[in-house]
Amino acid sequence: MTLKRVRLGTDSSGRPVIFDERTAYKVALLRKKFPKLVVVQGSYSDADASAGVHKGGGTVDFRTWNLTRKEIDAVVRYARAKLGLVAWYRTTAQGFDPHIHAVDAGNPTLAQGAKNQVAAFHNGRNGLASNGRDDGPRVKLGVVAYPPKAKPRNLIPPRRYVVTADRLHARRAPSMAGGKNIAATRKKGFRFTGRQIAVDPESGRTFIRAVARWYDATHLDLLASKKG
Ligand SMILES: [Zn+2]
Repeated sequence: MTLKRVRLGTDSSGRPVIFDERTAYKVALLRKKFPKLVVVQGSYSDADASAGVHKGGGTVDFRTWNLTRKEIDAVVRYARAKLGLVAWYRTTAQGFDPHIHAVDAGNPTLAQGAKNQVAAFHNGRNGLASNGRDDGPRVKLGVVAYPPKAKPRNLIPPRRYVVTADRLHARRAPSMAGGKNIAATRKKGFRFTGRQIAVDPESGRTFIRAVARWYDATHLDLLASKKG
């Protein structure tokens, strides 16, 4: 699959932070768990100390001076075990400004250097030129479905809704990912019976389903339920 590039502001040095969308999603999940995390380098960047590893997608560095050692270890473990991000704590002793470096294992946009680091991880190595032992937790890499799927639940009883936007596109699936799931456009005042509700994990937006179509709930009003 092709992954779009997304820009998430600038890093601590004023360079643009750019990720492929899958890595952006994983970084968002990691930052949801560890809100103190600050990105100091994104992907598609060619910084000095990285030996081309960040040239492609799937790579990210986080600041560590604002974290305790315990927090750093927790981030590295969670990134590996839950998100499939091969993370390492890079230290002064290894010749770095200390930071957490992570590579999205299996991401199709990785530069060769990043692919080599994933292979090094699987071989129990640290992914540096020194080819030292992996100094992080030897856990099984987690797998995160991408694009993320929403989990619909039934509205019991069904509810009546009215479209409040001038025009509202319906979708065939309640997730924003992919962007090709437009089924039809409804005009303001269109009324329908909603039978399911789902939150798109990527955008955080709520969708309501009627028949085989999903409508963005931000452009709907709930009508008073009819009796019965
Ligand atoms: Zn890095």
